[in-house]
Amino acid sequence: MTVKFITLGCKTNFYESQAMGELFRKKGYEITEKGLADVYVVNTCAVTKTGAQKSRQQINRIKRKNPDATVVVVGCLVQTDRESLEKLGADVLVGSSGKNRVADLAAEALNGKKTVVVDDIMKVREFEELPLTSQQSRIRANVKIEDGCDNFCAYCIIPYARGPVRSRALSDIKKEVELLAQNGFLEVVLTGIHIGSYGKDLKDGTSLIDVIETVCSVEGIKRVRLGSIEPVVITDEFVERIRKLPNLCPQFHLSLQSGCTKTLERMRRRYTAKEYMEGVKKLRAKIKDVSITTDLMVGFPGETDEEFLESYEFCKKIGFMQMHIFKYSVREGTLAAKMEQIPESIKEERSKKMIALAEEMKREFYDSFKGRVIEVLAEQKTADGTYHATASNYMEVFVESDEDITGKIVKYKV
Ligand code: SF4
Repeated sequence: MTVKFITLGCKTNFYESQAMGELFRKKGYEITEKGLADVYVVNTCAVTKTGAQKSRQQINRIKRKNPDATVVVVGCLVQTDRESLEKLGADVLVGSSGKNRVADLAAEALNGKKTVVVDDIMKVREFEELPLTSQQSRIRANVKIEDGCDNFCAYCIIPYARGPVRSRALSDIKKEVELLAQNGFLEVVLTGIHIGSYGKDLKDGTSLIDVIETVCSVEGIKRVRLGSIEPVVITDEFVERIRKLPNLCPQFHLSLQSGCTKTLERMRRRYTAKEYMEGVKKLRAKIKDVSITTDLMVGFPGETDEEFLESYEFCKKIGFMQMHIFKYSVREGTLAAKMEQIPESIKEERSKKMIALAEEMKREFYDSFKGRVIEVLAEQKTADGTYHATASNYMEVFVESDEDITGKIVKYKV
């Protein structure tokens, strides 16, 4: 039997698809990427309208191309819009909890039993173990440490799709990272829906820094990278503790969304531009060669020219190494969907301006390393024979080498 995974959306979804793949493999399935399969698992995304649309298109495509196949649809879109997916003819529907049962449910569906598992996600309080011990890349592995978010930002559907914060047990995280190290992985990336909230539900004082210290202490793991966090995580104590960890990558993806406090307030973000700047300063004061990367939204409802300009100038002041810029898009069911919207043409214009600034800042950051020798992890040989490699602060370089350096940390002169 063969199973094919179609994954949309975020890193957490990709992690979960691979973990579900392990469940199928244990049952004797072969995971296939090409051709037709007996079972399809569509791991959906609900975060944007496009993500939702693409998820539905994928189901339709499978139904058209391979009408006899068993179709299992899982994830955020099932959780938020189950009815419309039922109409598309899926055999199994699983929302944000119950993913550890997909292989069993697919087997039942092959025998004619269709199932829908959509729990009231707001009432789910336990982290669902879905371990992953082997991953596609043999160099960098994602490790999921928590699920859910309690922030309810005005534009975001995720808290409704993923439910409240559920932290994974520290001992389970450690066990998974130890296995990954034994399997030869050098780098792990701590992922989740809102990793900065790690420990909030445990109520025993454990927080993200404890996870970082635990993972950094695993023998064989050369690099630990953090997924997206928010500036409120960067306290003096946090910085003091991370500076003692030589294998923690000096790259922090601090989600900004807007550099204007008024816009941030409307977005219901839980920090001001000033607090963001303070967090960045704390990191820069103590962490060598640190790089700051971010996500930024343009055209949030009510964003005036002045607010956009304030956000633009703020980004310039920060000097990001990399920015992911996106235009606000309406998500039904959120607070921002009911606010007065900005015309698309204005969003487009602002996005272009911000992208140009991001490119300029990236160039400046890279230029500041010119002539220096840094350590990079070679990840893959490219078509032109060089090796694509990343520095611990996530600068990307291309290394020439006569010997195969894939998976090795080598010195590189910028
Ligand atoms: S912090 Fe805000 S944007 Fe991020 S997942 Fe939670 S609600 Fe969504």
